[in-house]
Amino acid sequence: MREQKRLFFGLELPQQCRQELIAWRAATFPAEAGQPMAADSLHLTLAFLGEVSEEKTRALMQQAGRIAQPGFTLTLDDAGHWPRSGVIWLGPRQAPRGLLQLAALLRSQAARSGCYQTPLPFHPHVTLLRQALQPVSLPPRNFCWSFPVERFVLFQSQFSRGRTRYQALAEWALR
Ligand code: ATP
Ligand code: MG
Repeated sequence: MREQKRLFFGLELPQQCRQELIAWRAATFPAEAGQPMAADSLHLTLAFLGEVSEEKTRALMQQAGRIAQPGFTLTLDDAGHWPRSGVIWLGPRQAPRGLLQLAALLRSQAARSGCYQTPLPFHPHVTLLRQALQPVSLPPRNFCWSFPVERFVLFQSQFSRGRTRYQALAEWALR
């Protein structure tokens, strides 16, 4: 069988933001709230691709390289809890147009390449905690992290040494 990789397009968070987020998370959520995502895994998914062959990966990368749009500022000023998937997340109260446009493009390219795309609306979020199945009290929305987004990334998702890790395979500038 030909080799397949589990891939997705997403955004990285700046290192400083990740450090601030994990410090804030530790001060905000009790240990039993859920399983914290590792600092180096914090990301925002734009388009999930699933298991993809090398050939299809090349085609998806070529199409991604044709995207020409400027960067944007991402502000994380909202938090939520999805008890059914056990996710506590941060996201923008108002998603920037550039983010919605980028995700829509990557999703439609993925769909055209035969990668199944969920019909559910895009809800941009950064997962902070997982396995958060019990009710939690969310913090007051008095936080705000903002950073410029200047590129997007193709990630490979792999389970190794007891946890899922994401590895950046390629990236493209937004300008
Ligand atoms: P694991 O599934 O191993 O517990 P994970 O969910 O972080 O860890 P993946 O399932 O590989 O790892 O997902 C990679 C990224 O894509 C995550 O941000 C995840 O939320 C998102 N994702 C996974 N499946 C889908 C899907 N069907 N539709 C949209 N996004 C998805
Ligand atoms: Mg998953």
